[in-house]
Amino acid sequence: MFNTDIRCGQCGRKLASGRYIELTIKCPRCRTLNHLKAESLPSERPGASDNKTKHD
Ligand SMILES: [Zn+2]
Repeated sequence: MFNTDIRCGQCGRKLASGRYIELTIKCPRCRTLNHLKAESLPSERPGASDNKTKHD
């Protein structure tokens, strides 16, 4: 789902590609430290809302 190119924010050099949640990668060309974070995480768990606690 998260197959994307990871590019340097400074010079635009392609650093890597693939999936990531959070990544810190240093550009070998301009030595900029790029801190990347995926924004849309699948944090919803279907079926987890049907959890009722009985209290007798
Ligand atoms: Zn760079």
